[in-house]
Amino acid sequence: RPTVVFDNVVFGYEDDRNILHGLSLEVPAGGHVAIVGPSGAGKSTIGRLLFRFYDPQSGRILIDGQDIAQVTQESLRSAIGIVPQDSVLFNDTIGYNIGYGREHADAAAIEQAARDAAILPFIQSLPTGFDTEVGERGLKLSGGEKQRVAIARTLLKDPPILLLDEATSALDTRTEQEITGTLRRVSQDRTSIAIAHRLSTIADADTIFVLEAGRLAESGSHTQLLRQG
Ligand code: ADP
Ligand code: ADP
Repeated sequence: RPTVVFDNVVFGYEDDRNILHGLSLEVPAGGHVAIVGPSGAGKSTIGRLLFRFYDPQSGRILIDGQDIAQVTQESLRSAIGIVPQDSVLFNDTIGYNIGYGREHADAAAIEQAARDAAILPFIQSLPTGFDTEVGERGLKLSGGEKQRVAIARTLLKDPPILLLDEATSALDTRTEQEITGTLRRVSQDRTSIAIAHRLSTIADADTIFVLEAGRLAESGSHTQLLRQG
């Protein structure tokens, strides 16, 4: 269960305009934090930097005290599991989608791995089994079902850090609550960062970081932030 630290990170895309202006934040080992803020504040950019799609102009990003610039791409990718808002599924079986990237992706092996990784709650809540074809020529899944498959796929890799980038924001509130509730139960042992825009989704995060225009406006627990107004 690693720590994640952003240390005075300055970043802009190619167009000279800085997006993050010396951002510092700390996620403790096994902590569950959330990043909220208006659209365009730089929330998704934080995720892209953590995964090294881009590197900051200055400042450092540390996982367990180690600068990610010094870490191999391979170990970085196995350390972080990302669930985006609109996960794209393959036109194949649910089992293939969940087991994608695994060598022996037959249904029995995936089911066993799913049991080991404690992600069965995501799979069992689907209306159908591993062998069902989904996508263009198969069964059309709802947005929530698609996200369950995507989350199961990410969790099966057992990443110590979980980054949820608006993973449930497009879903109705009830589906969102079901999924985040299940996620909470199966992610106790991970360090997690949830990017969200509905405060209700992340009410029980240990710390909520409020990002505004690339700067940390405030941080604290849900109750602390409500008290401050
Ligand atoms: P948020 O997730 O908080 O909505 P983003 O991190 O996606 O914000 O974007 C922050 C800012 O960076 C926005 O002004 C956005 O237009 C800009 N931006 C995002 N991606 C790129 C890119 N690939 N090239 C240039 N600017 C970008
Ligand atoms: P599009 O629907 O325009 O193809 P998407 O990004 O929504 O774009 O889908 C990308 C892929 O995911 C496509 O191959 C599509 O068949 C598959 N897909 C889209 N929606 C679903 C769904 N509800 N259930 C299963 N697979 C889907």
